[in-house]
Amino acid sequence: MARYYVNENEQSNGDHEVHKDGCYWLTLVQRKKYLGEFVSCVGAVREAKKYYSTADGCIHCSEACHTS
Ligand SMILES: [Zn+2]
Repeated sequence: MARYYVNENEQSNGDHEVHKDGCYWLTLVQRKKYLGEFVSCVGAVREAKKYYSTADGCIHCSEACHTS
């Protein structure tokens, strides 16, 4: 299990990136929401979509869930 967070600030393309605890890019995120612990990014992105329909996995730490 790993802790996942979603960036509360959208990116230039409108996506809210989902990051795994320990991701370098997560340290640069100023406002983030804790999603919980998940076995993979799939559950984390599903949870993040409850808050942001444009949630998407970070290409660095959650590449399997990165779609745009
Ligand atoms: Zn990341």
